[in-house]
Amino acid sequence: MNTHHIVGQSQLVGRMDRILSGGRIVHAYLFTGPAGSGKKTLSSLFAQALLCEGPGEKPCGVCRTCRQFQAGSHPDVMWIRRQEGRKNILIEQIRDMQEKMKVKPFQAGNRICFIENAQEMTEQAQNALLKTLEEPPSHSVFFLLADSTFSILPTIRSRCQMVRIGSLPREDVAGILTKRLSLPREKAMTYAALSQGVPGKALSLAEDESFRGNRERLMGGLSMAGSSRILELYDVFQDHREQVDDLLDILILWFRDLLVYKETGDPDRIINLDQTGLLRKLAPLFTSRDLNDMMEKVEASRKILKSNGNYQLTIENMLLHFQGGSYHAANRRSPV
Ligand SMILES: [Zn+2]
Repeated sequence: MNTHHIVGQSQLVGRMDRILSGGRIVHAYLFTGPAGSGKKTLSSLFAQALLCEGPGEKPCGVCRTCRQFQAGSHPDVMWIRRQEGRKNILIEQIRDMQEKMKVKPFQAGNRICFIENAQEMTEQAQNALLKTLEEPPSHSVFFLLADSTFSILPTIRSRCQMVRIGSLPREDVAGILTKRLSLPREKAMTYAALSQGVPGKALSLAEDESFRGNRERLMGGLSMAGSSRILELYDVFQDHREQVDDLLDILILWFRDLLVYKETGDPDRIINLDQTGLLRKLAPLFTSRDLNDMMEKVEASRKILKSNGNYQLTIENMLLHFQGGSYHAANRRSPV
């Protein structure tokens, strides 16, 4: 398979290659992985290779089929996704698809149907789809893309060949960022780590200016630990409530870096590589025990928020904990 623009995932690509060269195409594939992990990229490449009419390695990228596919205008390729303003993929959409899939392909080869965020199908929609998967038209191939295996009915899962997309090593994600955004290495490595190996997430974080600003405010703000000014950080949380998980990740990784730097002094083991100056300045202000305590507090707060705890109270409580968790407070305790 022609994978010049895919970074990493060599095992998965190898598996798709074997399927293509062996000609053992099944009627339904279920690609699972977190948002941004590459489900769409990889399944599209596979489908394009399946349809490609060019000679040599597929997809060739230049034949008529490839050009139509890349332009999103191939007559035998259909995408089903949630319609704007709706919460789910509806049974009507599946019925409509079923009518279209019955018709023989306009061009040689297969008719292909992608279902994006398949976990958003209503149960009725999933059950309707099941009927098609039980007796698929001979020329049809379905690609279901979902965030996890468990969000799809077991009856549907059992009709699909599973393709699980795992996270990528930090170096690979950094490679993607350097290639696509021309980021300097230390920035690319930082966002790769913050994304926890999910390339799509790394790209959107690196391009998200408000995330960049928040990250700097949070990390810099910790120098105010010990003063009541640390509560000013609540503004960041208030303004970006929908990103709270990312904000808590920033804190966890920052405390982790402070701890690692404090204990090893080794800059190679740092995640926030673009902030080593600040790290060096702040690390001596905390004891190891304080840093561990603060990390525990962040995870405890995350848990409370997940179980619908009061947002403002939980965040302020966490910040107040940081206020007591600094050098200034630690001075009064026995240092660790
Ligand atoms: Zn082609």
